[in-house]
Amino acid sequence: MDPDTERMVQILNRIDDVLHCQRCDLKLSRTHVVVGTGPLDAKIMLIGEAPGRDEDMKSEPFVGSAGRILNELLEKGGIHRKDVYITNVVKCRPPENRTPRDYEIEACHPYLQKQMEAISPKAIVLLGKTAAEALLGRTVEPGKEHGTIIEKDGIKYMITYHPAAMIYKRTLKDTIAEDFKRISALLVG
Ligand code: URA
Ligand code: SF4
Repeated sequence: MDPDTERMVQILNRIDDVLHCQRCDLKLSRTHVVVGTGPLDAKIMLIGEAPGRDEDMKSEPFVGSAGRILNELLEKGGIHRKDVYITNVVKCRPPENRTPRDYEIEACHPYLQKQMEAISPKAIVLLGKTAAEALLGRTVEPGKEHGTIIEKDGIKYMITYHPAAMIYKRTLKDTIAEDFKRISALLVG
């Protein structure tokens, strides 16, 4: 485990033994808890949905096919992956990669909340509907609201598509890339 992840685990252990967490039934489908990666003083935080198969195996977020797309989008947006903090709404892989249920998102929320407090980012990018709805507490249609910047409790949020959306719909590529090009601007002012 890299030192930043180790440090984050220590912080999250104030809530519960995160790497052996039993707070919801996703404990049954995971191999590893995927806490998140990146520096604890990151100015930008990216929040996805849940670990997939590759993430579950490697204990790292966005390292499979969605991760490769995310890397490409970050590069196009002029952002270094090593400078941002990346995590998910739930830290364990759901069975067959289904969408996490509301009570699972709720059970895991104290960890995410703690991460947001610890990192205190200037901007948070919400990758897809699940992340956007979990953090904004309302229904979100990324197709209508992507690229929108929302201020809530002193934090700027930007809604965008989940990178995996591009796997199913290649035409979204340029649209999502445009959102990512606007991320750096969130740090100004
Ligand atoms: N999709 C996500 O939402 N998160 C990951 O970590 C990987 C794929
Ligand atoms: Fe715990 Fe979150 Fe994993 Fe559920 S998803 S077992 S709350 S770490």
